[in-house]
Order: sequence, then C-alpha cells, then structure tokens
Amino acid sequence: MLEEDLRVIEKELKRDDITFEGKNILITGGAGFLGSWICDYLIRDGAKVTCLDNFASGVPGNIEHLKENKNFNFVKHDISKPIYFNEKYDRIIHMASRASPFEFKKYPIQILKSNTLGIWVSLGIAKEHQARLLYTSTSEVYGNPDPRFVPTPETYNGNVNPIGPRGCYDEAKRAGEAFVMAYRLQHGLDTRIVRIFNTYGPRMRSEDIYGRAVPRFIEQGLKNEPITVFGDGSQTRSFTYVTDEVEGILRLAAMDGVEGKVVNIGNDNETTILELARIIKELTNSDSEIIFLPLPEDDPERRSPDITRAKKILQWKPKVSLKDGLAKTIKWFETK
Ligand code: UDP
Repeated sequence: MLEEDLRVIEKELKRDDITFEGKNILITGGAGFLGSWICDYLIRDGAKVTCLDNFASGVPGNIEHLKENKNFNFVKHDISKPIYFNEKYDRIIHMASRASPFEFKKYPIQILKSNTLGIWVSLGIAKEHQARLLYTSTSEVYGNPDPRFVPTPETYNGNVNPIGPRGCYDEAKRAGEAFVMAYRLQHGLDTRIVRIFNTYGPRMRSEDIYGRAVPRFIEQGLKNEPITVFGDGSQTRSFTYVTDEVEGILRLAAMDGVEGKVVNIGNDNETTILELARIIKELTNSDSEIIFLPLPEDDPERRSPDITRAKKILQWKPKVSLKDGLAKTIKWFETK
C-alpha cells in the first residue's frame, strides 16, 4: 500500500523531471511520520540518505526496512546538540520536532529546543557543507488566525499567544523560521521554509499523547469506542493526504529559483471537526457514539491554507479527496 502511494508521488515529480538521484541528503526527524515517507521516497529515487532521529516521537519501525539499503544510514542523535559529519551533504531537511498538541503539555522544552537549537545546528551543518536547507514549519505560526485571513496566505503574520499552552510549538516554529532567514541573510545560505498544514495517512501514530484527531477518530471508530470531539466540533482544519504533502515538500526542496521562499503546503478543503468525526464513523462502519469533551485552551477556530503561491511557483496542488485519503488511512490502520 505504501508502495502504491510512493509510486503516485514518483509519477507526479517525474512528470516535471524532479529528481534527487545522486544527492547526499541529511534528514533530521527522519523516523517520524512525514520524515520516514521522505526517506522512503528519496531512497527509491536514488539519493543517499542519512536519517537522524532520537526517537522522541519517531518510531524505529518506520525505517527498519531501509536499514539494509546501502544508500541509507541511520544516526541516533538529538539534533538540539551539536554533531559533526565527515561526509559532505548536498541537502538538509530539518523535520525533527514533536507535533501533537498533547505533547505540548508534556514536552514543551524539547519542542522549543528542536526548533531553535535544533534548526541552529542544522543551519550550521548547511553552512559548513554549503548545502541547501529546507525547514519544515507549520500552519501553527498563524496561531488562531483572524477570520478575514482564512484561507491564510503566507503574508499573514499570525495571531499567536506566546505564553499559552501552544506557545512552545508556535513560537518555537516562528523562531525557527527567523533562524533560517538570519542564516540566509547573513551567510547567503540557500534555504526554503514549508508551512505544513494538518497531514494524515499511514504511519501516523494514534496512541496516547502522540495521537492527532484523524488517527484517534479512526482507532475509536474501528474499536466502536466513543469518538471524542473537543468543543462543539465547529472548529475547522484542512486535511492533506500524505502523498500530496510529501510531493509539495519535495518540489520545494528540489526546485531552483525558489531560494528564500516560504510556502504553504496543505489542502484547502476546510472541514469542521464534527464533520470529520461523522465521515470517519461512516467510513469505519462504526457503531461509535460521537461524544463532546471540553475544547482545549487556545485551540485554533479555523485553519485553511491559501495555496496560490504553491500552485504558482511549485506547480503543485492537492489531488487526494478527504474521503479517498481517509479510506486509505483506515485500511492501513486495519492491517497495521
Ligand atoms: N480534536 C478532537 N478530538 C480529539 C483530538 C483532537 O476534537 O480526540 C480536535 C482538536 O481540538 C482540534 C482538531 O481536532 O480542534 C485537530 O486536532 P489535531 O490533534 O489534529 O491537532 P491540531 O490541528 O490542533 O494541531
């Protein structure tokens, strides 16, 4: 199933002659949900990949199958601490960070470190190696956007509470972006920033503090347990299937002429969380009851990307509908 999805990404990228063949690439957070998809694709495409991860939220099983490959190398390390390499990298993709709101409460310091000290270490490596660096930022830099700016363009500066429960993630990512821009300004590095919107698909974690809305609802639906909607479920998100997200990220990583750019990559189909719960209940053929629990503090009311820039400069647009993507994800959860 993952193979089929990797082929979809390949078809889209190869159509525009985008390839990483022969490149030596360092991926921090490469054992995570999105990081491991990127590792898989790049190995398949003929790149040499070093995956760096400390398994804070990454999973050894996500990369186990790659360990036999001669082009794949794994380094267990916390990127917020300096590390020096003898070999030379052409590309660095900084993805290392916990990302689930439940983790914000438990590990705020680690989250701050991986997106400040961690991106600083990655930028240092990029400077030393004269490598191109891509930083994976987030829609969370927009915080709880003013509804006049939803769908949200890259030019919106955000509405973030620095001392609230999401501050550790939102402000860390904002500082991470500032680090990237500073290295570009002061040292002329070739950098890019992608702002990733809610992404789902196979390999997403569903357990404990790692679970996000989609995997939690799927597990709850499959087990006929109550589906836990927070608040009245009228808050919105725009969910992107993993193949679309990975394709967009890799386009930004690969293309010439987009140095210094920041680009939203996400599906612009805005859905309420209650609607999401209903769709997942239906697709899992579930008898689950939908129940309503208190809304976490500072939970953004609306989130949807303006993807005009990605369409224009990356020739990218999302292709997988929410129902199709969820059906694939549910199938993976049934067989994992
Ligand atoms: N959510 C929910 N029930 C859950 C988990 C999450 O209603 O069991 C809500 C959450 O409050 C938020 C949305 O679903 O409004 C998306 O949550 P997710 O965990 O995917 O992260 P976020 O988009 O907030 O970063």
